Amino acid sequence: MQNVATKRIYLFEEGNASMKDLLGGKGANLAEMTKLGFPVPPGFTITTEMCNDYSRNNGKLPDGLMEEVSAKVKVIEAKMGKKFGDVKNPLLFSVRSGAKFSMPGMMDTVLNLGLTDESVLGLAALTKNDRFAYDSYRRFITMFGDVVLEIERKKFDQLLDEKKKKLGVTDDQGVPFESLKELVGELKELVRKETGKPFPQDVFEQLRLAVEAVFRSWNNPRAFVYRNKEKIAHDLGTAVNIQSMVFGNMGDDSGTGVAFTRNASTGDKVLTGDFLFNAQGEDVVAGIRTPLPISAMNDSKPQLYKELSEIANKLEKHYRDLQDMEFTIEQGKLFMLQTRSAKRTAPAAIKIAVDMANEGLITKEEALMRVTPEHINWMLHPYFLPADKEKAVKEGKLLAKGTPASPGAASGLVFFEAEDAIKANAAGKHVVLVRPETTPDDAQGMLVSRGILTSTGGPTSHAALVARGWGIPCVVGCEAVQVNLEKKIFTVAGKTFKEGDYISIDGGTGEVMAGEIPMVKPTELSPECREILSWADEMKKLGVYANADNPRDAQRARNFGATGIGLCRTEHMFMEADRLPIVQEMIMAGTVEARKVALAKLLPVQRKDFYGILKAMEGYPVIIRLLDPPLHEFLPSLEELLVEVTTLRLTGKDPAALKEKDKILAKVRTLHEFNPMLGLRVCRLGIVYPEIYEMQVRAIFEAACQLTKEGVNILPEVMIPGVGHINEMHFTREMAVRIAEEVIKETGVKVHYKVGTMVELPRACVIAGELAKVAEFFSFGTNDLSQTTFGYSRDDASKSFIPTYIQKGILAVDPFAELDREGVGGLMKMAVKDGRAANSKLEVGICGEHGGDPSSIEFCHILGLNYVSCSPYRVPVARLAAAQARIREKGQGKGIDIR
Ligand code: ADP
Ligand code: MG
Ligand code: MG
Repeated sequence: MQNVATKRIYLFEEGNASMKDLLGGKGANLAEMTKLGFPVPPGFTITTEMCNDYSRNNGKLPDGLMEEVSAKVKVIEAKMGKKFGDVKNPLLFSVRSGAKFSMPGMMDTVLNLGLTDESVLGLAALTKNDRFAYDSYRRFITMFGDVVLEIERKKFDQLLDEKKKKLGVTDDQGVPFESLKELVGELKELVRKETGKPFPQDVFEQLRLAVEAVFRSWNNPRAFVYRNKEKIAHDLGTAVNIQSMVFGNMGDDSGTGVAFTRNASTGDKVLTGDFLFNAQGEDVVAGIRTPLPISAMNDSKPQLYKELSEIANKLEKHYRDLQDMEFTIEQGKLFMLQTRSAKRTAPAAIKIAVDMANEGLITKEEALMRVTPEHINWMLHPYFLPADKEKAVKEGKLLAKGTPASPGAASGLVFFEAEDAIKANAAGKHVVLVRPETTPDDAQGMLVSRGILTSTGGPTSHAALVARGWGIPCVVGCEAVQVNLEKKIFTVAGKTFKEGDYISIDGGTGEVMAGEIPMVKPTELSPECREILSWADEMKKLGVYANADNPRDAQRARNFGATGIGLCRTEHMFMEADRLPIVQEMIMAGTVEARKVALAKLLPVQRKDFYGILKAMEGYPVIIRLLDPPLHEFLPSLEELLVEVTTLRLTGKDPAALKEKDKILAKVRTLHEFNPMLGLRVCRLGIVYPEIYEMQVRAIFEAACQLTKEGVNILPEVMIPGVGHINEMHFTREMAVRIAEEVIKETGVKVHYKVGTMVELPRACVIAGELAKVAEFFSFGTNDLSQTTFGYSRDDASKSFIPTYIQKGILAVDPFAELDREGVGGLMKMAVKDGRAANSKLEVGICGEHGGDPSSIEFCHILGLNYVSCSPYRVPVARLAAAQARIREKGQGKGIDIR
């Protein structure tokens, strides 16, 4: 008896579904179906280890393997009452490759192996069907010639086509026996010419050559490329399945097809699929004949349909997942040839997970693990219907592929400059902004765009971050697109597009297409999506908040399930067109008094903003960050001013304007810093110019008191940015509390509030124990914390060296996209521990890009944070990711693998 480790061949009845490593996915499931008593034609599987041996031995079959194969053939012969290579009663095989993961690019299947010039006569006599026998033989020679002997498939097909043309038939089925017999002769002659040898007539030689071809195909370039793309290991190897043939081409009571236990694109619970009568294997997918929908089988062969439905039901119950099945009917008898977990669209994945949990087939935890963050993301963005996209691709409209940066589809008119985009949008046009890259100056133009396309930059470039934050479909780094900003054109694939031309992009796949493609836009989460996310809420420990700066975003976040605002940035309120002049007046002010005059004008505007946001988030906390960026961001750039001042000076026409611009230029020069990110910004701004923070705190509490008076339940929290020293916290906290209490006293309304800090400097993490005594909450600003911990400039790193770092293996991922658990995470861990030890009520969360990234969310769960905060469009994904983190922690399931 051989022990398990050295067993090289398994009869189907000896394996099971858990043996995918050894038997491949196809073999393991054939074994499982056999074991369960489904009608599977008998056969056996050569293990993946033999493939690896073959590769290691430079293409030599393991010693004695073919002798073992012959022994197994004997077993199958006994079962079938037929003999391999027999002239009178021949047994035929299919030889099928099958790796652990389903892999297009691997060897195609060879059917009808075992036919020879003699056994074809036997088959004909036995079945009393000459046509069938020769149809099978011509298919075998073609497949064997193509797949095993590696002769161009075209050459075989041409011979068949010539026959059909001569006969004046379009359908393979229309070719009569005599012509098929002739064709077989021609095909064999082709093989002789191409290989210099006759078509092999020894069936064991046929079998050996086919087995070797399967092993060889593991290392063919197509398979190699596919594995790289899908991150499948190159040393898994493929198994070989050798299975007795059943015949779907024996007449009109025979056929073959594929079926899904539910609809894999909608998720509807109906058997779907395609089939053909009187056909074999590849006919269904080859496109020569149009297959019938499975439902048609119910009309013509209700008994078979019933049988197939029952098997489908049983398989789905057994595997507890959507199955993709292949079957063949031989003279009215149904056989199952394959089953596996099916690929599915995002809507189907969600619907099926919810339905199966509600049917009691899987648990809620399992349902949650079967939906991926990408599925949820996909549901939130406009999309092209697959049929429309396929049509566009067929029409040659696919221009290029870039890096998918923000999912969703967009169709619109090309514009290159932000201001042109804004004008076009105001005129009611749909805009796709196309640029080499984007900068903060383009922000307004990006905001009004339906889609964004850049020719440079990676997934963490400015364009990508902004687009994701705003839920705008975006493709970046599309190098094939050459943008000429001066001429306002771009060229790609030999075509030129100018301003106002239509293009379409798919931010989920990176595709760039010419023309307009119709779109479908989800306006809210589907009922299934809402249901599964409500389960996520039951499961998760982390709160999910949103980053929102205005009532509209706050409301949207609430609709998507956010239970708080984790970051309300006040500088965005300063940027709005009607306020910028006042803000500039404030900055230009020469004295504290003059500054206070300008700030007094800003107060009512800010109060109105806070009123709106707090009201929209009734019942939930709103964390408002005091002014953060350096002041020069609110002034025109030095370069811009220099040009204007020079022009004014040269023309000499407008001395008043010149004087005004000169003044601004002088201010910009004084505010100029070499490292503005490390300069006069964050709480330093509020300490140097306390009147700015005082005005903001006053605006918050005037709004809060007003709302409380109106009976609205609000929970404001004041967040001090960029604290590194304990005295910074003391100073700003005292100021905030003083103003808050002042307003509370003035209005006579009690408001509960908190004052805390954004933790975004390594020093703040180190002194977290001290900080927590004065701060009621910490919010990790991991964008800046990553920047300051690594010492990488976030604005520059992603385009200058991070791609090289990843390519050279210095970094595994971009630390600005996925939180670095070791370094940055280490600091966070320390801050959480020391902070909570000093203040057991300390509330800890995270805001910034990482708050919407599934891996980073999992890390926040492990650290025991109270919440994560992300852009409104990431909220549903974050809810799912938070639940999955908890489920994984409890060891209650891993996701499905349908590669
Ligand atoms: P793929 O991995 O490309 O789907 P398969 O090995 O599943 O390749 O084979 C493709 C098709 O060949 C099957 O769907 C089935 O129609 C046909 N086929 C494979 N084995 C047999 C068999 N033993 N009898 C009849 N048809 C078969
Ligand atoms: Mg194939
Ligand atoms: Mg198959």
